[in-house]
Amino acid sequence: MIDLQADVAIVGSGFGGSVTALLLERAGLRPVLIERGRHPRLALGESSTPLANLLLQHLGQRYDLPQLVPFGEYGSWQAAYPQLACGLKRGFSYFKHEHGRAFTPRNDRGNELLFAASATSDDADMHWYRPDFDHFLVREVQAAGIPYFDRTEVTATNDGQHWTLQGNADGEPLAIRAEFLIDASGDAGFVCKSLGISREPVGMQTHSRVVFGHFADVGLWSDLYAAQGGKVDGHPFPCDDAALHHIIDGGWMYVLRFNNGVTSAGFMLDTRLHPVDESLSADDEWQALLGQYPSVQAQFVAATITPECERIRRTPRLQRRAVQTAGPNWALLPFSAYRLDALHSTGNAHTLCGVERLVQILEQRLPRDARTAALQAYDRTLQSEIDTVDEIVHGCYSAFSRFDLLVSYAMFYFAAATVSEHARRKHRRQTASEFLLSGDPEFRQALRLASGQLQQVLQAGPTSRSDEEAYGRFVAGLLQPYNIAGLCDPARQNMYPFLKVDYTLRSHE
Ligand SMILES: Cc1cc2nc3c(=O)[nH]c(=O)nc-3n(C[C@H](O)[C@H](O)[C@H](O)COP(=O)(O)OP(=O)(O)OC[C@H]3O[C@@H](n4cnc5c(N)ncnc54)[C@H](O)[C@@H]3O)c2cc1C
Repeated sequence: MIDLQADVAIVGSGFGGSVTALLLERAGLRPVLIERGRHPRLALGESSTPLANLLLQHLGQRYDLPQLVPFGEYGSWQAAYPQLACGLKRGFSYFKHEHGRAFTPRNDRGNELLFAASATSDDADMHWYRPDFDHFLVREVQAAGIPYFDRTEVTATNDGQHWTLQGNADGEPLAIRAEFLIDASGDAGFVCKSLGISREPVGMQTHSRVVFGHFADVGLWSDLYAAQGGKVDGHPFPCDDAALHHIIDGGWMYVLRFNNGVTSAGFMLDTRLHPVDESLSADDEWQALLGQYPSVQAQFVAATITPECERIRRTPRLQRRAVQTAGPNWALLPFSAYRLDALHSTGNAHTLCGVERLVQILEQRLPRDARTAALQAYDRTLQSEIDTVDEIVHGCYSAFSRFDLLVSYAMFYFAAATVSEHARRKHRRQTASEFLLSGDPEFRQALRLASGQLQQVLQAGPTSRSDEEAYGRFVAGLLQPYNIAGLCDPARQNMYPFLKVDYTLRSHE
C-alpha cells in the first residue's frame, strides 16, 4: 500500500501538470503528480507562440529551474536538447484556397498573409513535438524527487478541507491525502466529473471539430506555391517554417512540420457547415477534403500516417467550458477548464499563464479566506479570457470565405499577442491585461465593435473592394492604441516582417 500526504495533488501529466509540479516543488510545497496513461504519448497542442516560450523561460529563471530556460527560443532549444524533436516556427502563414481550384498566387498577395513572430531562426519559437516534450518534463519531475505515478487511475473525494485520492499504481493500492487538487487532465475533466460541474459549451460562439493525424513525407508548401508562380522571396520568412494555415470555406487546415520528419496536420471545420457524416470514416473524410482543394492535396500526395498515430482521427464539436474553474481547495488548468480551437495557437500560452497564476496563489500559503478570494479572481480572469479567445476565433471562422475581411479581423489577434508578448518581455511577469489583452476593457470594447461590424458586413452579402477597405480602416482605427507591430498597413500587402518594438508607444502597459 502506498500512502502519501501532499500539499497539492496534480491529476494529469501533460506539460501543464508537469510544469506545475516542478514550480510547486521549487516553491517549497509538496506536489504529487498522477497520470493515467504513459509517456511518450501522442498529444495535440503543438504550435507554440513567443508568449508560451517566454513564460517557460521566465518561470525557469524565477523558480531556479534552468532546464526550462532553453525552451524560450528555437536556437537555445537546439543547443541544449537536440534529441527532443521540435519544429521551427518563425510566425504564422495563411493561404486562402478556392473550392475545386488550384491555389493561384496573386500579384497583390490578396490571398495570403504572413506574420513574422521573430527576427531570426535562433530567436524563433517552435512547435513542440509533444511526445518528446511532455516526456522530458515528466522525467524532470521524477528527477526532482516529486512522487509520480503513471498508469494510475484514481477516484477523488473532497471533505472540504482535504482531498483523498485512491486507486492503483501498477497493481499496488495507492492513497493520497492532499490539501489542494489541480486538474491538469485536459479533456478528461477529472475534477468536473468528480464534482458534477457542467462542461457544456454554454455561450461559446465557435463551433468546430477536427480531422487530424501525424504524417511522414508531407511536401513543402513553398515548393508548390513557387511552382504556381508565387514569389517566395517576398515572404518575410520561409512560409513552411510556421504554423501554416490553409484557409478553406468553413474551416482551415493546420500544417506543423517537426525536425524529425513528422508533420502534424488537421482540418478544423465549422460543424454547422461541415457536420460529421457518419457514413464516411475519418480516413474517407480526410481524402474527400483533400480532393476538394487540389493544391493542398498536392502537398499531401506522398504523405503517410506515422506508425505512432496509426490512423486519421476525428472529434465531434471541440468546444467545452467549465462553469466554474476553481473552488476553495481546487482549480482547473485552462485546458481542463475549456477547449476551443487551434486557430492562432492560443492554448499552450494560456495553459502556462494559468500555471503561473495558480503557483503564485499557492506559494503564498494564504489563509483560507484569502486563498478562496484569489481563486475566485482566477476563475473570473480565466472565464473572461475564454470569452476573448472565443470572440477572436469565432470572428475569424465567420470570415473564412472573405479573406480580406479575415485579414483585417485577425489583426486583433496579432495586436493582442504582440502587446502581451512585449509586456511580458518588459515586465518579466504577468500584467493585468495578459492574456491577449483580455483584462483591458478598451481592447475588449474595440474587439466587440469590430466583431459586430464584421457580422453586419458579412450579412449584407457580397461586398465591394471599397467596403472591404473601409472595414480594414475601421479595424486599423480601433487598433491604433495597440498597434506596436506595424499592423493594418495596406502598403505591406499582407506581409508583416518582425518589427523591433518601441515600448514607449504604450504608456498604459
Ligand atoms: C485540436 C486541437 C489543437 C490544438 N492545437 C494547439 C496548438 O497548435 N497550439 C497551442 O498552443 N494549443 C493548441 N491546443 C491546445 C493544447 O492542446 C492545450 O493547450 C494543451 O494540450 C494543454 O496541455 P495540458 O498539459 O494542460 O493537457 P493535456 O496535454 O491534455 O494533458 C492531460 C494529461 O492528463 C492525463 N489524464 C487524463 N485523465 C486523467 C486521469 N483521470 N488521471 C490521470 N491522468 C489523466 C492525460 O493522459 C494527459 O497526459 C489545441 C487543442 C486542440 C483540441
